[in-house]
Amino acid sequence: MRDPREDYPKPPFAKQRQPEPGLDVEMDPPVDHGEATYKGLGRMRGRKALITGGDSGIGRAVAIAYMREGADVVVNYLPEEDADFQELSSLASNEGGTIVGMPGDLTDEAFCLRLVKEAAEQLGGLDTLVINAGKQVFQESIADLTTEQFDRTLKTNCYAMFWLSKAALPLMPPGSAIINVTSILGYKPTPILLDYSATKFFIRGFTQNLAQQAIKQGVRVNAVAPGPFWTALQPSGGQPPEKLESFGEQTPMGRPGQPAELASTFVFLATQEAGYVVGETIGVTGGMPLA
Ligand code: NAD
Ligand code: MG
Repeated sequence: MRDPREDYPKPPFAKQRQPEPGLDVEMDPPVDHGEATYKGLGRMRGRKALITGGDSGIGRAVAIAYMREGADVVVNYLPEEDADFQELSSLASNEGGTIVGMPGDLTDEAFCLRLVKEAAEQLGGLDTLVINAGKQVFQESIADLTTEQFDRTLKTNCYAMFWLSKAALPLMPPGSAIINVTSILGYKPTPILLDYSATKFFIRGFTQNLAQQAIKQGVRVNAVAPGPFWTALQPSGGQPPEKLESFGEQTPMGRPGQPAELASTFVFLATQEAGYVVGETIGVTGGMPLA
Protein backbone atom coordinates (compact mmCIF):
# COMPACT_ATOMS: atom_id res chain seq x y z
CA MET A 1 0.00 0.00 0.00
CA ARG A 2 1.02 3.58 -0.62
CA ASP A 3 -0.43 6.89 0.49
CA PRO A 4 -2.39 8.09 -2.59
CA ARG A 5 -1.81 11.72 -1.61
CA GLU A 6 1.92 11.22 -2.07
CA ASP A 7 1.77 9.11 -5.24
CA TYR A 8 2.09 11.97 -7.75
CA PRO A 9 3.18 15.60 -8.17
CA LYS A 10 1.24 18.28 -6.35
CA PRO A 11 0.81 22.01 -6.98
CA PRO A 12 2.39 24.47 -7.37
CA PHE A 13 3.19 23.60 -10.99
CA ALA A 14 5.47 25.49 -13.38
CA LYS A 15 3.92 28.15 -15.65
CA GLN A 16 3.25 26.63 -19.08
CA ARG A 17 1.17 27.32 -22.13
CA GLN A 18 0.69 25.45 -25.41
CA PRO A 19 -1.33 26.01 -28.55
CA GLU A 20 -4.40 23.83 -29.08
CA PRO A 21 -4.38 20.80 -29.31
CA GLY A 22 -1.85 20.36 -26.52
CA LEU A 23 0.88 17.73 -26.57
CA ASP A 24 1.84 15.43 -23.70
CA VAL A 25 5.47 15.60 -24.84
CA GLU A 26 5.48 19.27 -23.71
CA MET A 27 4.04 18.67 -20.20
CA ASP A 28 6.04 19.56 -17.09
CA PRO A 29 5.95 17.44 -14.96
CA PRO A 30 5.37 14.65 -17.47
CA VAL A 31 2.00 12.88 -17.61
CA ASP A 32 1.80 9.34 -16.19
CA HIS A 33 -0.22 7.07 -18.51
CA GLY A 34 0.70 3.89 -16.62
CA GLU A 35 3.64 3.05 -18.91
CA ALA A 36 5.70 1.76 -15.98
CA THR A 37 2.89 0.53 -13.75
CA TYR A 38 -0.19 -0.89 -15.50
CA LYS A 39 -0.22 -4.68 -15.33
CA GLY A 40 -2.62 -6.55 -17.63
CA LEU A 41 -4.43 -9.69 -16.45
CA GLY A 42 -5.74 -10.82 -19.84
CA ARG A 43 -9.18 -9.39 -19.05
CA MET A 44 -9.69 -8.09 -22.61
CA ARG A 45 -8.11 -10.88 -24.65
CA GLY A 46 -9.61 -10.91 -28.14
CA ARG A 47 -11.41 -7.61 -27.64
CA LYS A 48 -11.44 -4.98 -30.42
CA ALA A 49 -11.43 -1.39 -29.22
CA LEU A 50 -11.66 2.07 -30.80
CA ILE A 51 -10.57 4.98 -28.57
CA THR A 52 -10.94 8.61 -29.65
CA GLY A 53 -8.33 11.07 -28.37
CA GLY A 54 -6.10 8.06 -27.71
CA ASP A 55 -2.78 9.74 -28.45
CA SER A 56 -2.46 11.50 -25.10
CA GLY A 57 -3.83 11.94 -21.59
CA ILE A 58 -6.71 9.79 -20.41
CA GLY A 59 -7.18 8.16 -23.84
CA ARG A 60 -3.53 7.08 -23.98
CA ALA A 61 -3.75 5.53 -20.49
CA VAL A 62 -6.83 3.59 -21.62
CA ALA A 63 -5.08 2.46 -24.83
CA ILE A 64 -2.09 1.12 -22.84
CA ALA A 65 -4.32 -0.65 -20.33
CA TYR A 66 -6.53 -2.22 -23.02
CA MET A 67 -3.49 -3.40 -24.98
CA ARG A 68 -1.92 -4.93 -21.86
CA GLU A 69 -5.24 -6.64 -21.08
CA GLY A 70 -4.98 -8.32 -24.47
CA ALA A 71 -7.18 -6.12 -26.71
CA ASP A 72 -6.32 -4.91 -30.20
CA VAL A 73 -6.74 -1.14 -30.30
CA VAL A 74 -7.31 1.63 -32.87
CA VAL A 75 -6.80 5.18 -31.65
CA ASN A 76 -8.01 8.36 -33.30
CA TYR A 77 -6.39 11.78 -32.77
CA LEU A 78 -5.79 15.00 -34.69
CA PRO A 79 -3.00 14.95 -37.30
CA GLU A 80 -1.17 17.72 -35.33
CA GLU A 81 -0.77 15.26 -32.45
CA ASP A 82 1.41 12.80 -34.32
CA ALA A 83 4.35 13.31 -31.91
CA ASP A 84 2.22 11.98 -29.05
CA PHE A 85 0.88 9.09 -31.12
CA GLN A 86 4.42 8.08 -32.13
CA GLU A 87 5.38 7.63 -28.45
CA LEU A 88 2.38 5.38 -27.90
CA SER A 89 3.02 3.50 -31.11
CA SER A 90 6.63 2.72 -30.22
CA LEU A 91 5.58 1.53 -26.75
CA ALA A 92 3.08 -0.81 -28.43
CA SER A 93 5.67 -2.17 -30.88
CA ASN A 94 8.17 -2.75 -28.04
CA GLU A 95 5.56 -4.80 -26.20
CA GLY A 96 4.35 -6.69 -29.29
CA GLY A 97 0.86 -5.21 -28.89
CA THR A 98 -1.46 -3.73 -31.50
CA ILE A 99 -2.28 -0.02 -31.43
CA VAL A 100 -3.12 1.37 -34.86
CA GLY A 101 -3.45 5.14 -35.44
CA MET A 102 -6.27 6.64 -37.52
CA PRO A 103 -5.84 10.44 -37.44
CA GLY A 104 -8.68 12.74 -38.44
CA ASP A 105 -11.11 15.42 -37.30
CA LEU A 106 -14.21 14.21 -35.45
CA THR A 107 -16.13 17.43 -36.15
CA ASP A 108 -16.69 15.99 -39.63
CA GLU A 109 -19.59 13.51 -39.78
CA ALA A 110 -18.22 11.73 -42.84
CA PHE A 111 -14.90 11.19 -41.06
CA CYS A 112 -16.66 9.73 -37.97
CA LEU A 113 -18.50 7.20 -40.14
CA ARG A 114 -15.31 6.30 -42.03
CA LEU A 115 -13.36 5.94 -38.76
CA VAL A 116 -15.81 3.40 -37.33
CA LYS A 117 -15.93 1.46 -40.60
CA GLU A 118 -12.16 1.38 -41.07
CA ALA A 119 -11.47 0.57 -37.41
CA ALA A 120 -13.86 -2.40 -37.61
CA GLU A 121 -12.18 -3.57 -40.83
CA GLN A 122 -8.73 -3.22 -39.27
CA LEU A 123 -9.71 -5.02 -36.06
CA GLY A 124 -11.96 -7.66 -37.65
CA GLY A 125 -14.96 -6.29 -35.73
CA LEU A 126 -15.68 -3.80 -32.97
CA ASP A 127 -16.84 -4.50 -29.40
CA THR A 128 -15.48 -1.56 -27.39
CA LEU A 129 -15.89 2.13 -28.20
CA VAL A 130 -14.37 4.76 -25.89
CA ILE A 131 -15.59 8.25 -26.82
CA ASN A 132 -12.94 10.27 -25.02
CA ALA A 133 -11.91 13.10 -27.40
CA GLY A 134 -12.89 16.50 -26.08
CA LYS A 135 -12.47 20.22 -26.67
CA GLN A 136 -12.12 22.60 -23.68
CA VAL A 137 -11.25 26.27 -24.14
CA PHE A 138 -12.02 28.77 -21.37
CA GLN A 139 -13.64 32.18 -21.96
CA GLU A 140 -14.29 34.57 -19.10
CA SER A 141 -17.72 35.59 -20.39
CA ILE A 142 -20.41 34.55 -22.85
CA ALA A 143 -19.53 37.85 -24.57
CA ASP A 144 -16.14 36.38 -25.51
CA LEU A 145 -17.49 33.00 -26.66
CA THR A 146 -17.62 32.99 -30.46
CA THR A 147 -20.09 31.03 -32.53
CA GLU A 148 -17.10 29.29 -34.09
CA GLN A 149 -15.83 28.03 -30.72
CA PHE A 150 -19.33 27.11 -29.52
CA ASP A 151 -19.85 25.12 -32.72
CA ARG A 152 -16.53 23.27 -32.53
CA THR A 153 -16.97 22.40 -28.85
CA LEU A 154 -20.42 20.97 -29.48
CA LYS A 155 -19.33 19.16 -32.66
CA THR A 156 -16.34 17.55 -30.90
CA ASN A 157 -17.98 16.69 -27.58
CA CYS A 158 -21.60 15.98 -28.57
CA TYR A 159 -22.18 15.53 -32.32
CA ALA A 160 -19.19 13.19 -32.71
CA MET A 161 -20.60 11.07 -29.85
CA PHE A 162 -23.88 10.78 -31.75
CA TRP A 163 -22.22 10.01 -35.10
CA LEU A 164 -19.77 7.46 -33.67
CA SER A 165 -22.38 5.67 -31.52
CA LYS A 166 -24.85 5.51 -34.39
CA ALA A 167 -22.26 4.07 -36.77
CA ALA A 168 -20.80 1.61 -34.24
CA LEU A 169 -23.91 0.09 -32.67
CA PRO A 170 -24.98 -1.98 -35.71
CA LEU A 171 -21.50 -3.57 -35.73
CA MET A 172 -21.35 -4.38 -31.99
CA PRO A 173 -22.21 -7.90 -30.77
CA PRO A 174 -23.88 -8.58 -27.38
CA GLY A 175 -21.32 -8.10 -24.60
CA SER A 176 -19.90 -4.96 -26.25
CA ALA A 177 -19.42 -1.69 -24.39
CA ILE A 178 -19.53 2.02 -25.20
CA ILE A 179 -17.80 4.28 -22.65
CA ASN A 180 -18.24 8.05 -22.78
CA VAL A 181 -16.20 10.66 -20.95
CA THR A 182 -18.09 13.37 -19.10
CA SER A 183 -16.60 15.42 -16.22
CA ILE A 184 -17.25 16.70 -12.73
CA LEU A 185 -18.09 19.90 -14.65
CA GLY A 186 -21.07 17.98 -16.04
CA TYR A 187 -22.47 18.14 -12.49
CA LYS A 188 -21.00 21.39 -11.17
CA PRO A 189 -20.30 23.78 -14.04
CA THR A 190 -17.58 26.38 -13.83
CA PRO A 191 -18.39 29.89 -15.14
CA ILE A 192 -15.40 30.19 -17.52
CA LEU A 193 -16.26 26.91 -19.30
CA LEU A 194 -19.83 27.62 -20.37
CA ASP A 195 -19.80 25.67 -23.65
CA TYR A 196 -17.61 22.83 -22.35
CA SER A 197 -19.55 22.29 -19.11
CA ALA A 198 -22.83 22.25 -21.04
CA THR A 199 -21.51 19.49 -23.32
CA LYS A 200 -20.53 17.43 -20.27
CA PHE A 201 -24.13 17.70 -18.97
CA PHE A 202 -25.26 16.57 -22.43
CA ILE A 203 -22.97 13.52 -22.27
CA ARG A 204 -24.54 12.35 -19.01
CA GLY A 205 -28.02 12.56 -20.52
CA PHE A 206 -26.97 10.94 -23.80
CA THR A 207 -25.32 8.09 -21.89
CA GLN A 208 -28.35 7.38 -19.71
CA ASN A 209 -30.69 7.51 -22.67
CA LEU A 210 -28.69 5.54 -25.24
CA ALA A 211 -27.90 2.92 -22.56
CA GLN A 212 -31.59 2.02 -22.36
CA GLN A 213 -31.78 1.52 -26.12
CA ALA A 214 -28.46 -0.28 -26.56
CA ILE A 215 -28.97 -2.85 -23.80
CA LYS A 216 -31.81 -4.22 -25.94
CA GLN A 217 -29.04 -5.56 -28.18
CA GLY A 218 -26.81 -6.53 -25.24
CA VAL A 219 -24.52 -3.51 -25.49
CA ARG A 220 -23.76 -1.58 -22.28
CA VAL A 221 -23.31 2.19 -22.44
CA ASN A 222 -21.71 3.95 -19.45
CA ALA A 223 -19.61 7.01 -18.69
CA VAL A 224 -16.67 8.14 -16.57
CA ALA A 225 -16.60 11.54 -14.84
CA PRO A 226 -13.03 12.63 -14.06
CA GLY A 227 -12.16 15.41 -11.66
CA PRO A 228 -9.04 17.49 -12.49
CA PHE A 229 -6.46 15.38 -14.37
CA TRP A 230 -2.95 16.39 -15.39
CA THR A 231 -3.21 16.40 -19.21
CA ALA A 232 -2.34 18.61 -22.18
CA LEU A 233 -5.97 19.73 -22.40
CA GLN A 234 -5.39 22.12 -19.47
CA PRO A 235 -2.36 24.25 -20.60
CA SER A 236 -3.68 24.42 -24.19
CA GLY A 237 -6.60 26.74 -23.40
CA GLY A 238 -8.46 24.54 -20.89
CA GLN A 239 -7.44 26.75 -17.92
CA PRO A 240 -6.11 30.27 -17.49
CA PRO A 241 -2.31 29.90 -17.06
CA GLU A 242 -2.37 31.30 -13.49
CA LYS A 243 -4.98 28.70 -12.44
CA LEU A 244 -2.84 25.89 -13.84
CA GLU A 245 -0.17 26.56 -11.22
CA SER A 246 -2.59 25.43 -8.49
CA PHE A 247 -4.37 22.80 -10.64
CA GLY A 248 -5.96 20.08 -8.49
CA GLU A 249 -5.32 21.88 -5.20
CA GLN A 250 -9.06 22.24 -4.56
CA THR A 251 -9.58 18.48 -4.33
CA PRO A 252 -9.57 16.80 -0.90
CA MET A 253 -6.59 14.85 -2.27
CA GLY A 254 -4.72 18.14 -2.79
CA ARG A 255 -3.40 17.25 -6.24
CA PRO A 256 -4.66 16.47 -9.75
CA GLY A 257 -5.14 12.88 -10.86
CA GLN A 258 -2.88 11.26 -13.42
CA PRO A 259 -4.39 9.37 -16.39
CA ALA A 260 -2.80 6.18 -15.02
CA GLU A 261 -5.24 6.43 -12.10
CA LEU A 262 -8.26 6.28 -14.43
CA ALA A 263 -7.42 3.41 -16.77
CA SER A 264 -8.71 0.55 -14.62
CA THR A 265 -12.17 2.17 -14.45
CA PHE A 266 -12.35 1.97 -18.26
CA VAL A 267 -11.20 -1.67 -18.15
CA PHE A 268 -13.91 -2.46 -15.58
CA LEU A 269 -16.64 -0.83 -17.67
CA ALA A 270 -15.51 -2.65 -20.83
CA THR A 271 -15.59 -6.15 -19.38
CA GLN A 272 -18.19 -8.62 -18.10
CA GLU A 273 -17.17 -7.64 -14.57
CA ALA A 274 -19.44 -4.64 -15.15
CA GLY A 275 -22.15 -6.86 -16.74
CA TYR A 276 -25.00 -5.29 -14.76
CA VAL A 277 -23.65 -1.73 -14.90
CA VAL A 278 -25.74 0.12 -17.48
CA GLY A 279 -26.29 3.86 -18.01
CA GLU A 280 -24.03 4.65 -15.05
CA THR A 281 -21.44 7.39 -14.59
CA ILE A 282 -18.46 6.54 -12.43
CA GLY A 283 -16.70 9.49 -10.80
CA VAL A 284 -12.91 9.50 -10.30
CA THR A 285 -12.42 12.86 -8.66
CA GLY A 286 -9.87 12.77 -5.84
CA GLY A 287 -12.70 13.20 -3.35
CA MET A 288 -14.78 15.99 -4.91
CA PRO A 289 -18.44 14.95 -4.65
CA LEU A 290 -20.17 14.73 -8.04
CA ALA A 291 -23.59 15.71 -6.74
P1 NAD B 1 -6.09 15.34 -24.05
O1 NAD B 1 -5.83 16.64 -24.68
O2 NAD B 1 -4.91 14.45 -23.83
O3 NAD B 1 -7.15 14.52 -24.87
C1 NAD B 1 -8.18 15.12 -25.62
C2 NAD B 1 -8.08 14.57 -27.01
O4 NAD B 1 -9.20 14.99 -27.77
C3 NAD B 1 -6.87 15.06 -27.80
O5 NAD B 1 -5.77 14.21 -27.61
C4 NAD B 1 -7.38 15.03 -29.24
O6 NAD B 1 -6.84 13.91 -29.91
C5 NAD B 1 -8.85 14.84 -29.12
N1 NAD B 1 -9.59 15.80 -29.95
C6 NAD B 1 -9.95 17.07 -29.65
N2 NAD B 1 -10.60 17.61 -30.70
C7 NAD B 1 -10.65 16.66 -31.67
C8 NAD B 1 -11.20 16.60 -32.96
N3 NAD B 1 -11.85 17.65 -33.50
N4 NAD B 1 -11.03 15.46 -33.68
C9 NAD B 1 -10.38 14.40 -33.15
N5 NAD B 1 -9.86 14.39 -31.92
C10 NAD B 1 -10.00 15.51 -31.19
O7 NAD B 1 -6.82 15.63 -22.66
P2 NAD B 1 -7.61 14.66 -21.64
O8 NAD B 1 -7.74 15.44 -20.41
O9 NAD B 1 -7.03 13.31 -21.60
O10 NAD B 1 -9.07 14.60 -22.28
C11 NAD B 1 -9.76 13.42 -22.52
C12 NAD B 1 -11.21 13.58 -22.09
O11 NAD B 1 -11.27 13.73 -20.67
C13 NAD B 1 -11.94 14.79 -22.68
O12 NAD B 1 -13.24 14.40 -23.08
C14 NAD B 1 -12.02 15.74 -21.50
O13 NAD B 1 -13.12 16.59 -21.60
C15 NAD B 1 -12.17 14.76 -20.37
N6 NAD B 1 -11.89 15.31 -19.05
C16 NAD B 1 -10.64 15.76 -18.74
C17 NAD B 1 -10.40 16.28 -17.49
C18 NAD B 1 -9.05 16.81 -17.10
O14 NAD B 1 -8.95 17.47 -16.06
N7 NAD B 1 -8.00 16.57 -17.87
C19 NAD B 1 -11.44 16.35 -16.54
C20 NAD B 1 -12.69 15.87 -16.88
C21 NAD B 1 -12.91 15.35 -18.14
MG1 MG C 1 -3.73 14.69 -27.58
